[in-house]
Amino acid sequence: MEEQIIYHPDFFVIPEGGGKPHIIAFQCAECGKTWFPVLPYCPSCWSEKFNKRELSKGILYTYTVMYTPQQGIKPPLVFGYVDFPEEGVRVGAQLEIDAEKSKEQLKIGMEVEVIAGVIRKDPTGKDIISYKFKPAV
Ligand SMILES: [Zn+2]
Repeated sequence: MEEQIIYHPDFFVIPEGGGKPHIIAFQCAECGKTWFPVLPYCPSCWSEKFNKRELSKGILYTYTVMYTPQQGIKPPLVFGYVDFPEEGVRVGAQLEIDAEKSKEQLKIGMEVEVIAGVIRKDPTGKDIISYKFKPAV
């Protein structure tokens, strides 16, 4: 097996034993607002206390196909923003979908799920793994 690097281990959880990967957001212990990723203090009430909270149902807010090469990334790739209405946060990430088929397979407002996938390669060629989205089945 090739060596892999897990990115963002503090807010992206890949359960051992085959559970579904999920993203962790941070809910203010004082006012209850949820933020992602974690902030030094709550912008709403200045509290510094947060409780970890698993993001639940993701809805595709928007997406774009990127054709510009970046270090360790082979274009084209699909990047999108996903809303989690229950928690009130929006998360940007790559979508695990063929860029050629994005127009037919992606619909704004569709439910998406969190998966673990390769987001790019590091300078030595190792896969960097983090959260991505794909249409929910
Ligand atoms: Zn707060």
